[in-house]
Amino acid sequence: MKIIKFGGSSISNAKRIKNVIEIVEDKLQKRQKIIVVFSAFENVTDELLNVGGKAEQKNIKYKEKIAQLSLRHAKMSKQLLKGKLLCETLEKIEEFFSKVYDIACEIYLTEEFTNKRSDLLLSFGEQLSTFIITKAFQQKNINADYLDTRFLIKTNSNFGFAKVAFYQTSKNLQKYFKNSVGLQIVTGFIASNRDNQITTLGRGGSDYTASIIASALEAKEIEIWTDVDGVMTADPKKVFNALPLSELSYKESFELSHFGAKVIHSPTIKPAIDKQIPIIIKNTFRPEFLGTKISSNPEEHPYLVSGITSLFDVVLLRIEGDVVTESSGVLGRVFEFFDKQKIDTLFISQASSNHSICIAVSLKDLKKAQEVIEKEFVFELKARLLEPLIVEDDISIVSLIGEKIKQNTKFLAVVFESLANSNIDVIDVVQGASKLSISIIVAKIDQKKAVQVLHEVFFEKENKNINIFIVGTGLIGTELLNQIKQEQKKLQRVANISVNVCGIANSRNNTICENGMNLKSWEDCLKGGDGGNIESFLHSLKNIKLSNKVLVDCTASEKIPGFYKKFLENNISIVTPNKKANSNSFRNFQTLQKLGNRNKANFFYETNVGAGLPIIETLKNLIKTGDTILKIEGVLSGTLSYLFNSFTENKKFSQIVKQAQEKGYTEPDPRNDLNGLDVARKILILAREVGLDLEMKDVEVENLVPQKVSNAKSVEEFFLLLEGCDNYFDGILKKATKAQKKLCYIATLESEKISVKLKSISKDHPFSSIDGSDNIVSFTTERYKNNPLIIRGPGAGASVTAAGVFADILKCI
Ligand code: ASP
Ligand code: MG
Repeated sequence: MKIIKFGGSSISNAKRIKNVIEIVEDKLQKRQKIIVVFSAFENVTDELLNVGGKAEQKNIKYKEKIAQLSLRHAKMSKQLLKGKLLCETLEKIEEFFSKVYDIACEIYLTEEFTNKRSDLLLSFGEQLSTFIITKAFQQKNINADYLDTRFLIKTNSNFGFAKVAFYQTSKNLQKYFKNSVGLQIVTGFIASNRDNQITTLGRGGSDYTASIIASALEAKEIEIWTDVDGVMTADPKKVFNALPLSELSYKESFELSHFGAKVIHSPTIKPAIDKQIPIIIKNTFRPEFLGTKISSNPEEHPYLVSGITSLFDVVLLRIEGDVVTESSGVLGRVFEFFDKQKIDTLFISQASSNHSICIAVSLKDLKKAQEVIEKEFVFELKARLLEPLIVEDDISIVSLIGEKIKQNTKFLAVVFESLANSNIDVIDVVQGASKLSISIIVAKIDQKKAVQVLHEVFFEKENKNINIFIVGTGLIGTELLNQIKQEQKKLQRVANISVNVCGIANSRNNTICENGMNLKSWEDCLKGGDGGNIESFLHSLKNIKLSNKVLVDCTASEKIPGFYKKFLENNISIVTPNKKANSNSFRNFQTLQKLGNRNKANFFYETNVGAGLPIIETLKNLIKTGDTILKIEGVLSGTLSYLFNSFTENKKFSQIVKQAQEKGYTEPDPRNDLNGLDVARKILILAREVGLDLEMKDVEVENLVPQKVSNAKSVEEFFLLLEGCDNYFDGILKKATKAQKKLCYIATLESEKISVKLKSISKDHPFSSIDGSDNIVSFTTERYKNNPLIIRGPGAGASVTAAGVFADILKCI
């Protein structure tokens, strides 16, 4: 015998009901012996509560609500039934609703919506749905009986959440089912007390009905059909990557529901444990999926925890004072009083000083709890042996649940570290008495993030998130966004890496989108930004609670690098083509290196030298593996390389510069290329990689333009003045050509000295073969002595630079 229960969402419309009937038919065909329990249709219980609430407030709209509900049930019946069955059902619906109407009237007149009246009112939800569905089975020629459990399941008179009288109930059920013949279609949730007044088993109580029947009949299994794939590792509404668990222990599922998981109504588990009946959670929308099996000896799963839950509507009560320190009985008394008032404590913690006790209760019980404490401790409060009660209501509880928690000593360290890395403060931690759970108190605003971060750590190790913030939307920034947009899906599919662009800023505007932007419309997102300055953007990015944040600085600004240190210290990685930070003081370089070499955050800047070419990484690897660098030589400016490679006789130097600027090969102001400083910065960075304590002033730089031209007030004026130098450059070129040599602007590091100069090189020099905007570097080392290690390729241009930045970003996993 199996007891099968379908929840409200599984029967929210006629189509779904037909689907449910198919699932049941399939079982009947397989000759399974089954009993089927139903909840009210989706939201009907809430709607009925709403009717009662309105009536109590003397709001005449309750009538309208009832009419709507009645219509909905009639409509559903018309879609499922025909002829006589339909007539009978519509009559019954009318009868039910006339009762609903009477009760609502009574509530309206008395202005009292007591728990007792509420139970009576709500009981119609299940009666209606189950009656209609029974008829739908009959319509398909299935011999089905409507079973109203109100008078079979007996409870005490705790209306709203009645306690089952198991002995009597079991006897009633056994007697009934002994004589039943057809397929039994059963109302969930509803019962009655000794005086036959209607009670309910608490919200979500249809699950409970299933397990009560299972227990009475010693069924083999309970199946709870819902709208998710089983018990999930976290609430899928909060965590996109939540997973269904295939097996769980009774205890785990009990803790999960105690701490807020919605999948199973917690009292349901008890009768199942007593009779060792497994509970299977199944998805009505995916019947073929196995779902979750809850039993006493579940198969092990690979995760350290089984689920993460959170509770929002909770408060902390802090009880402090001498009486707490001196007498051990305070906690006992609080418990006793709370129990009497039916106040459920979610957990209790006592500070090690024994001076204070902390109790978490649900928000709805707050008033009652306050009253109880004030009343029961009136003497201690007056005598100031007890401080006035402190209530903290801006908190929430995040709980991690699993059988393995108690065996793992590193568990808490992992929890703390991952929360700290995402800037989430832990207010308090409590281990559940069962040792199966750890609850963490965090600020209410941190709740969702905390659940996400912990879920990532415990369940998504396979999946790596990189949350990036891009500053600068010039050529490189825009191209980078393009490349990410193109590759995002594939990276997720092939490598389990999600690259989320969570923020974009330029000098005019900025925008933040914590969940990652849709890159098809990043420009619109940016336009919709609030126009705040970059500082405020950087400030908020520092505080955003996300794991693995990466700041991608695609500017050439001097200002942004000033923030790198702070970011790295706050465990935010930096990726940048911007050379300003690394060519600033040596001390600053060292500090950033140190901060970026920890495990917590990275500092990657491959594109500082030779755009996407793997120059810095190669140099780092040579050094790391113990090679000694003897000499570095390079053509390190794509711009200057392009200029001198295109500079042939009959061409004007100034025109070539202009073309290069138009192609985006130059810095925004070409003087920054021609003055050699850009190359100087690059060779300085390479020298520092080698470990040399050098500054910009130590680089011997040959400026390609005379001082007078350099001093031009604007870029336009500069170009005009540069024309005046055309003859000069022509002269040098002629001389080199005559000697069968080639002009090359070369940076050199040798004997701890660095220089940047225009040189004429002979045709057998390895650099003489480069063309276009190629860069080339040669490393002469102890290992590569006779034949230097050479890296060559395009060293400028938005697409290769952006690709280099992208590659650095991907190194941040
Ligand atoms: N209809 C009731 C509720 O909404 C019982 C149930 O759905 O299990 O709480
Ligand atoms: Mg590079």
